[in-house]
Amino acid sequence: MYPFRTISLLPEIPKRISGLSKLAYNLWFSWHPETQALFAYLDVDLWKQADNNPVEFLLNIKQEKLQSASNDQVFLNMYDKVMLDFATYLQGSTWYEKNYPGHEDLIAYFSAEFGIHESTPIYSGGLGLLAGDHCKAASDLGIPLVGVGILYKQGYFCQQINGEGWQEVHNSSLDPSQMPIKPACLPNGQEVIITLEFPERLVYVKVWEQNIGRIKNYYLDTDLALNSPHDRLLTSKLYIGDQSIRLSQEIILGFGGVKALRALNISPNVWHINEGHAAFVIVQRIRELVQKGLDFPTACEVVKANTIFTTHTPVPAGHDVFNVEMIDHYFGHLYEKIGINRDSLISLCWDSQRNGFNMSKLALNYSSFVNGVSKIHCQSTKKIFADLYADIPFSEMPIHYITNGIHTTSWTATEMQQLFQKHLGSDWIKNITQAKQWRKVYDIPDEELWQAHLLLKEKLLAFARENILNRLNRNFETAEVGKRYTAYLKKDTLLICFARRFATYKRATLLLRDKERLAKLVNNPQQPVVIMFAGKAHPEDRPGQQMIKQLCDLEKDPRFQGKILFLENYDINLARHLVQGADVLLNTPRYPLEASGTSGQKAAVNGVINCSTLDGWWPEAYNGQNGFGIGIAKLYPSEDLQDQEDVSSLFELLEQNIIPSYYERINGLPIGWINLMKNCLATIPWYFSTLRMVKEYYTHYYLKAAQREKEFTANNFLKAKEQQQFKERLLANWANIESLKVQVNTTDLLAAGKKLELTVPVKLGQLKPQEVIVEILYGKVQNQSLENPQLIPMNSVQEMEPQLFLYKGSINLTSGTSGYALRIRPNSINFAHPFELPLIKWINLT
Ligand SMILES: *Cc1c(COP(=O)(O)O)cnc(C)c1O
Repeated sequence: MYPFRTISLLPEIPKRISGLSKLAYNLWFSWHPETQALFAYLDVDLWKQADNNPVEFLLNIKQEKLQSASNDQVFLNMYDKVMLDFATYLQGSTWYEKNYPGHEDLIAYFSAEFGIHESTPIYSGGLGLLAGDHCKAASDLGIPLVGVGILYKQGYFCQQINGEGWQEVHNSSLDPSQMPIKPACLPNGQEVIITLEFPERLVYVKVWEQNIGRIKNYYLDTDLALNSPHDRLLTSKLYIGDQSIRLSQEIILGFGGVKALRALNISPNVWHINEGHAAFVIVQRIRELVQKGLDFPTACEVVKANTIFTTHTPVPAGHDVFNVEMIDHYFGHLYEKIGINRDSLISLCWDSQRNGFNMSKLALNYSSFVNGVSKIHCQSTKKIFADLYADIPFSEMPIHYITNGIHTTSWTATEMQQLFQKHLGSDWIKNITQAKQWRKVYDIPDEELWQAHLLLKEKLLAFARENILNRLNRNFETAEVGKRYTAYLKKDTLLICFARRFATYKRATLLLRDKERLAKLVNNPQQPVVIMFAGKAHPEDRPGQQMIKQLCDLEKDPRFQGKILFLENYDINLARHLVQGADVLLNTPRYPLEASGTSGQKAAVNGVINCSTLDGWWPEAYNGQNGFGIGIAKLYPSEDLQDQEDVSSLFELLEQNIIPSYYERINGLPIGWINLMKNCLATIPWYFSTLRMVKEYYTHYYLKAAQREKEFTANNFLKAKEQQQFKERLLANWANIESLKVQVNTTDLLAAGKKLELTVPVKLGQLKPQEVIVEILYGKVQNQSLENPQLIPMNSVQEMEPQLFLYKGSINLTSGTSGYALRIRPNSINFAHPFELPLIKWINLT
């Protein structure tokens, strides 16, 4: 092939409708159905062909079509309405302005992937989708936030299933000129390219900019002629197995991301690390401060003060760990140059089980706020990091959770939005997080809700038919085969969908444990069932690929033909069709391995019923009336036993509950099922929205982090220095703290309502009484510990001799079996939480 260069130019857009290009370059269109309809009106086939990508669409539209649209009154009315909505969206007042007037925050949100829309395929799964929905909600709420990620030039792979049922991986190159992104530029129009010091070379990184409503995301890209062929490919693919490329990507994201923001003159006051991949943000920020003259330990305090870390991984193996030789290779030339203390950095990030540098520990140790993404996941996270909090009660470990949500308007089908508009009110979007308005779903006439659902189901069935026939044609199957495969894609057949990454813990093939029972279940002529699967397995995940193969084998099996189907190339567009058009969304992660999951939340807002194991977000939503819960949330002695019990519970649910209830009709309508849909709509969407989630991030973390940033940097970092010195004193002296015998006042008979007085002499050594808290825990005894104990401070009443203080406190006794404990912990108003330094001393009571 001969070399050539491409030039992509938008057509000349008539002045009257020149706003189209602004609309195309703002991802706002992805959650504004009227804007999508506007593009589709211009050329509906091209809109579909361009995969809903407005930039590609405009690059390919015929000039005549634009010309005639500019004279078409119907189009112009639509256009004017959209432009007005857009302006109102960008300029209207927001939650943030109303609640925090005068605040000037800027949150930097770092994530290795962003799943915003199919036109920007730089995501692989839930983490990216969550990040995308986080940004959209920040925009809706008016919270100033910039996202920082990587522009993977080959995106995530395209999946094709071959004739034998194996997944084939196709990497195509993305062309940024065809995407709704632009090079980030300085005010003088110059493109931003930053440099990173890699071992023995510089790597150049180009910065791209994307508009997401009111906010902007920046994506980093090394595919530049300035770089060597090897370095050009550093940012080509997501989640590469090669450890050195992976580490390079994390360096680009963390170090490069901070540098890119600086180059753009963007100064965040809060830094949010979304999953450990982005944790090098911390090191780069420490480095900046050290270069400004601050000492390393103080710089650490300054950085920690306004850093937030969200972890999404429920198992230790999911956290990135790099061997120390690799870290030294990449940072060896930097430690000294930037004054970073290699040994203290590494010791804080050391993972002794896996013998390496753990990115999540880096993030955890240098963040003031750490959270998991569901209640269950918070527990798993605490277990993973328990060694960092030895002796601190599990319930008091400073790891909390904010349960994931979805960006409601991005995932709610237009047809459903119209229903909500009509029955919840024209303000329904403003009130998404108000539980009260969702109760109005019970006023929607059954017939109307059912018809809207059937319409969406038919859209999915058409989409599925095309997907399946495409594959069969490509694999040289006959039309006859195509007919058999698609024979049951009918709107009155119960349609169950399973759509997610094919990671083994998600157990896509769970139902295949009993094929006889499954065959019987799908083939009842009165109550047929179609189960559709979709999902990609990571190219290096052989067991995941095997699961796809098993399903595709079943597809061919005469017992299952047309009943079990696989849709290829799961992406946002396919996900959207599935979560909007299925009757039931099946979800079978092995407890407790699903950090949160969000697909089911997307389904719920469309009235699609969840049938899921009680893992991730689902137990926080499931109330027995709004979907189905598979099995029991408990730890099993073996995976096999767990699978066995879960699958039998799932079959029972399907046979005795789901299928009969779906097919039970009164005057042609499945009244019971429709009621289930209403229960689901009434109870789930208001809470599982990123609007609620991002508000929580703001009020629990961003707001406090911004305040801490102010305090810790004021007066030439005075507070940070004090904090650092205090921590040093605590660490140096903690081991010398000693308590003497506890005295219990027993002059009175012990009885409920009486006081129990306790005194204890404590040797504080170099520490002062105001630097520690001595306290009583008092509560009911349960499972050999104290249940939600009350904390009662003890007062230092007397200095008995130098450095020996007498502490006194009392308990108001209650009836029943209670217990008390005494402990000493650090006291600082500057700590983000009581165990910012995980120090505690339990007082001996024997
Ligand atoms: C929502 C979504 C996910 C996340 O799904 P879970 O399986 O619930 O974690 C992954 N991929 C795509 C394309 C999605 O839209």
